[in-house]
Amino acid sequence: MPSIDYGTDSMAWVRALSHASDAELYALIQTPMYDAMLFRHADAVRRIYYGTDVYIRGLIEFTNYCRNDCYYCGIRRSNGMVHRYRLTKAEILTCCKDGYALGFRTFVLQGGEDMAYTDKTLCEIVSTIREHFPNCAITLSLGERTRESYRLLYRAGANRYLLRHETADDAHYRRLHPKEMSLAHRKSCLFQLKEIGYQVGAGFLVGSPFQTAKELVSDLRFLQQLQPDMIGIGPFIPHSNTPFWDYSGGSLILTLRMLAILRLMFPYVLLPATTALGTIHPQGRELGLKVGANVVMPNLSPTGVRRKYELYDNKICTGEESAQCRSCLEQRVEAAGYHVVTDVGDMRRRKLTK
Ligand code: SAH
Repeated sequence: MPSIDYGTDSMAWVRALSHASDAELYALIQTPMYDAMLFRHADAVRRIYYGTDVYIRGLIEFTNYCRNDCYYCGIRRSNGMVHRYRLTKAEILTCCKDGYALGFRTFVLQGGEDMAYTDKTLCEIVSTIREHFPNCAITLSLGERTRESYRLLYRAGANRYLLRHETADDAHYRRLHPKEMSLAHRKSCLFQLKEIGYQVGAGFLVGSPFQTAKELVSDLRFLQQLQPDMIGIGPFIPHSNTPFWDYSGGSLILTLRMLAILRLMFPYVLLPATTALGTIHPQGRELGLKVGANVVMPNLSPTGVRRKYELYDNKICTGEESAQCRSCLEQRVEAAGYHVVTDVGDMRRRKLTK
């Protein structure tokens, strides 16, 4: 295994990682030896591009119906224990209004693949939000839809789309999903979204069943090919009512290591410290921020439905009101040494000039 030393200059780490060989990536991923250096340089690089700014995105989990049956996911269609719900346009709009008053300038509409929301219904929801909040970003996270559907939603006013690829290794993808789903299709959705003009977010599960360093290297290579604006990663956490209930979850340290590597490989990227990371460790999100993450996504969903959007066991932030969620996260961000900004929060391609 190569021994890694890219020197003391953080931008030298960025340059080295953008050309890193597979062997170098394996070395960084497989041993804790480089963690201290990775973490230090990742934080330095996030400060070069984003200072201490942390963007907040208001997450609205608007439906937990899903036609898919991903083996890891708590709201998969075969989970008969889920109390299914759908939010109406009026309910979604109320979430946005509450969120706007709390300083949110990005709304993320996330849900299972719920075909009850036709293109027409979704476009009405999106265009109404667009009319009411012209200075906000509308992010969608609705899974795989047709190119035409993506195009209509973009035209209705959506600007960003989050679609984690989950794993970029084909054989691994097939072990995490039933046979009617395919990595090729998911990837093609990501390229279509980009082509249409969305700011696109991809990402993967850390520590999902059967994952090794090989799959993680594939994830990094795929991201280099896609060049997304956002990268969402979080530890896999087993859900008791799924086929993977007895697999162990992804670890804190591996998730932090991957966050740091991502910050160095994609210095400009928008990188959330996710709820899943906060679920496996009480300080998970703060630690994520300290190793390169620059986005947090507090929950804006109505309190009554939060527990029902249970992707994995023991999900945090299901009890509080939106305002509590917002201020709790703000305190955590400040305590970690960063600052929440009320800003639409687009990706920055250039370094800050100071
Ligand atoms: N239907 C949308 C949204 C999926 S939920 C879509 O397909 O993109 C958002 C993310 O939650 C998923 O992309 C997945 O990476 C994550 N997730 C699902 N189950 C999980 C689990 N058990 N542990 C951790 N993350 C999980």
